Amino acid sequence: MKCMHCKGRMVRGTAPFGLNRNGYHVSWDAVPAWVCNQCGEPFFESREVELIQKALTELDRESAALASTGSSVSKP
Ligand SMILES: [Zn+2]
Repeated sequence: MKCMHCKGRMVRGTAPFGLNRNGYHVSWDAVPAWVCNQCGEPFFESREVELIQKALTELDRESAALASTGSSVSKP
């Protein structure tokens, strides 16, 4: 596999992955990925992307419950 940015060689490793969601920030320190040994650009395989999306779906569901609990408590 070649890097789509610099055409360097991709090696199996891990890369951090983080993003901002509605109302919270989520990040993983070491997600399995292909990492360019030239520019360090990570490439996540569909398996990892699916797992991340699954985790985010759960997080969205749970944090929606958290947010509604919080708002109902703060109501007079
Ligand atoms: Zn590269």
